[in-house]
Amino acid sequence: MQEKLSSSQQKLNDINYNYRKIEENIANAALISGRTRDDITFLAATKTVDVEYINYAVSLGLRYIGENKVQELLSKYEGYALDKCSLQFIGHLQSNKVRQIVGKVDMIQSVDSVRLADEISKQSLKHGIKTDILLEVNIGREESKSGVFPEKLDELCGYVSTLEGIKVRGLMTIPPICADSAEAAGYFSGMYKLFIDIKGKNMDNISMDYLSMGMSSDYEEAIKCGANMVRIGSSLFGERIYR
Ligand SMILES: *Cc1c(COP(=O)(O)O)cnc(C)c1O
Repeated sequence: MQEKLSSSQQKLNDINYNYRKIEENIANAALISGRTRDDITFLAATKTVDVEYINYAVSLGLRYIGENKVQELLSKYEGYALDKCSLQFIGHLQSNKVRQIVGKVDMIQSVDSVRLADEISKQSLKHGIKTDILLEVNIGREESKSGVFPEKLDELCGYVSTLEGIKVRGLMTIPPICADSAEAAGYFSGMYKLFIDIKGKNMDNISMDYLSMGMSSDYEEAIKCGANMVRIGSSLFGERIYR
């Protein structure tokens, strides 16, 4: 009789399999869009995932992780293998919580207001550092979502380019839930256009290095449309269990 694997061992096996599969898919999508695997940053969205499993993925080669909630990030912080991976913040961030993560994260991907940018800059200067940020765009103009509307992006760029404690490294988006990949491609391409437009303006303090878009269900499509950073959770770690 075959010995039954413990559920934790089974989960590690799944992560191993998923990681390799995602790597392969990223490489293929990169090739289709005229780039290579190394042009794409694979960030794992680690909300609800135990540090044991996150660190296992890091041992497989994962180099970027992103958390969504300040409290969860702080409670897991001591456990992350931060000598081997970069920790980023990807969730909605309230201004009053900024000081709890500045100095701990390498990038904050979800900046969508002057107020939030101001606070990150202020707290960074207190630490004597500059914090990398992405500007989050609400490309589908959804009421329920965070992010600056596309037509307001220029104004926000103009403002943040004056702040000394932050550096804008690119754009991030979470598009609306789409019925098919053609619809998703419309949003992703719209983001790529914004990304290229701003890049072309060569503004102070803004270097358009990252276009962060694409999650488990659509990362290959996002890469084909120009994403160079994808944020993948459930395809790597399995369905999330909220406790
Ligand atoms: C959870 C999350 C993801 C990953 O979602 P999956 O569909 O599980 O891949 C990506 N980006 C953000 C901001 C998230 O909160």
